[in-house]
Amino acid sequence: MKEFILIKNGEIVLKGLNKGRFEDALIKNARRRLEPLGRFTFRKAQSTIYVIPPEGEVDLDEAVARLQTVFGIARLCRARVVEKDFEDIKAKAVEYLAKRLRAARTFKVEAKRSDKSFPMNSPQICRELGGVLLSHFPHLRVDVENPEVTVMVEIREFAAFIHVDQLPGAGGIPVGTGGKGALLLSGGIDSPVAGYMMAKRGLELIAVHFASPPYTSDRARHKVELLARKLTPYCGRIPLFVVPFTQIQEAIRDQCPEDFFTLVMRRCMMRIAEAIALKEGCGGLITGESLGQVASQTLMALACTDQVTRLPILRPAIGLDKEEIVQIARKIDTFDTSILPYEDCCTVFTPRHPKTKPKVADLETIEGRMPGLAEMLDQAAREAELVIFRQSDPVEE
Ligand code: ATP
Ligand code: MG
Repeated sequence: MKEFILIKNGEIVLKGLNKGRFEDALIKNARRRLEPLGRFTFRKAQSTIYVIPPEGEVDLDEAVARLQTVFGIARLCRARVVEKDFEDIKAKAVEYLAKRLRAARTFKVEAKRSDKSFPMNSPQICRELGGVLLSHFPHLRVDVENPEVTVMVEIREFAAFIHVDQLPGAGGIPVGTGGKGALLLSGGIDSPVAGYMMAKRGLELIAVHFASPPYTSDRARHKVELLARKLTPYCGRIPLFVVPFTQIQEAIRDQCPEDFFTLVMRRCMMRIAEAIALKEGCGGLITGESLGQVASQTLMALACTDQVTRLPILRPAIGLDKEEIVQIARKIDTFDTSILPYEDCCTVFTPRHPKTKPKVADLETIEGRMPGLAEMLDQAAREAELVIFRQSDPVEE
């Protein structure tokens, strides 16, 4: 039995002259995502992309599930390929839909005819096929308002298709079409969600993590690696840079007033992340900050971190409540990993009374008194260790 997967593009359809570029990126990402299942072929037609499975056994349910994490897809479904001949459509529809229709009480048929040479128009197809299905499944009732099953018949250029049950896609726009961003990835709940949100808007990601061994453990690092890996179904390949941050944190602890620890540390993180981002061709930084969540995320504190980089800092979670962030984290399956109780470098030297209304000038004075700070930051950026995660890497918990 010949089945395709039909992909309905999302926002790409609004891209006008750029549409082709967006579709090509979507196909490239979808092909990668399906690679472990076999060599699928892709064909573009109007606002639909046909995903054609290779000959032989293929797990189409798994293929659909995988495609549901590819950004740029609004809806998708499996579809039976039939000849553009009403006799064939009738026979195959009865066979293909039998299981689904036996379990339903109400249905309707919708038809779309883009090949106008097909001798029946859409209302005729609906009426005739509706009648055939009613005679084969007499328990059914037609309900045009609110049917349990909507049978779609599409008469396209090179074939006709029958399908039911359109599934939601991941939405957004294809990863890579918006450039590249560097995600500051901690082990927490917020930053993986921030990465997911920006990938959804078309950014390819690199990730930067600051580790302070021995204050932070191998388990804490493994957790961050696992989070990066868990993002790959959505974001694609993610290079993770693990920055040695111990020496810088110790310098901050020894040389800064306690209430400024966190802010100086965050500014150091931004400078290092910027250096890595520029080297890797990124046009922006991404953090999981949310306004007011902690002392380092007040407006004045954010201004202090913004000031050390000329790259835009994207903070997609800035206006979300924790509960809303948690909801997304659960959806993308990072939540359970994020709540594992391992220490983060931020929690190692936490001030008792962090400044909530810091002034940029104070921070500049404090940092000016730290000898060799710029060199330490350069060195840390240079010595970052690179680990690459790919979509097909297995996720080990
Ligand atoms: P998260 O839940 O993502 O850890 P958070 O609520 O713990 O965020 P902070 O610890 O203040 O908030 O960190 C704010 C942001 O700074 C994080 O979302 C992340 O982008 C970045 N960040 C914090 N710690 C690290 C780290 N060790 N490595 C990389 N980025 C970090
Ligand atoms: Mg954190």
